[in-house]
Amino acid sequence: MPIPKIIIETEWLLREVDVVFPVLPMPASEELTTHQADCEDCDDVRKYLNAYRYKAIGDDILITHLRMLLSTLSPVTYLWILPHYLKFCLNSEW
Ligand SMILES: [Zn+2]
Repeated sequence: MPIPKIIIETEWLLREVDVVFPVLPMPASEELTTHQADCEDCDDVRKYLNAYRYKAIGDDILITHLRMLLSTLSPVTYLWILPHYLKFCLNSEW
């Protein structure tokens, strides 16, 4: 039996991301990472993210760099970055 072919349009998915994952403000600096003290990795990630605090998040460099740092992000930072990350993935050439 043939496997049914499913075609999902990127534009439809992008609209769904907007509905399901509303854009939130960047969390406060002390809420950005899993560890708040005694962790150089998390200190570096907070410094890196704070440099983007007042910039547009559609920046490919930010998202590309964050892909390697996801394990350091707090749950509230995941909620903040997820819609940007998903849109980046849907718009990127693979
Ligand atoms: Zn850490």
